[in-house]
Amino acid sequence: MNIILLGAPGAGKGTQATRLSDRYGMPHISTGDIFRENIKNGTPIGLLAKSYTDKGQLVPDEVTCEIVKDRLAREDCKKGYLLDGFPRTIVQAEALDKFAKIDAVVNINIDFSLLMARLCGRRVCRECGESYHISTLGGATTCARCGGELYQRKDDNPETVQSRLNVYKDQTAPLIDYYTRKGILLNFTGTDDPPEVLFGQICAELDKMDR
Ligand code: ADP
Ligand code: ZN
Repeated sequence: MNIILLGAPGAGKGTQATRLSDRYGMPHISTGDIFRENIKNGTPIGLLAKSYTDKGQLVPDEVTCEIVKDRLAREDCKKGYLLDGFPRTIVQAEALDKFAKIDAVVNINIDFSLLMARLCGRRVCRECGESYHISTLGGATTCARCGGELYQRKDDNPETVQSRLNVYKDQTAPLIDYYTRKGILLNFTGTDDPPEVLFGQICAELDKMDR
């Protein structure tokens, strides 16, 4: 199964992707993680990406599509994969159609009013990528899953979050129609319930599909 996770920043795509990847044994491919890794390592892609991610804008389609195309060609993707954060524009979706066959798009709808507080209070594990919120951490600074150090992403500040939400509305939300027309969109609602609730709902749908 080749699956796309779609949803606004903070909707919970990454959290669900980690869990889905464990359950179905499929690689979790996050373009955001790929860019952050490149930025950390100071690669040419990282230097380019940083100027966009710092402002909450999208890295140009051409660069992003090339990275994903290369990644999907690797051996571990032969039996299926989870795309998290790609595609994010119609141009990217059309490019993807040329080198991949997508079986389902998991769309997480969420009330926008929840997102600012979620993202600005988010802390992420440096080792395994798990997300937490300061309101439930009780002052903890390490990951409950793996003991890794928690940090705040540079783009999780009010100004950059606002710009990411605007970019989502303008450039990414049109993908909901795009995949609805293809008949492969599965709709879910994100809430402030523990992520296991939504995870159960997503698995119930994916389990019905052929793998
Ligand atoms: P979130 O969904 O929380 O905004 P991501 O980790 O998916 O975070 O992405 C972080 C940043 O990386 C984005 O704001 C953007 O600058 C860049 N990025 C990630 N995926 C893409 C993509 N498909 N196209 C262009 N830029 C991207
Ligand atoms: Zn961790």
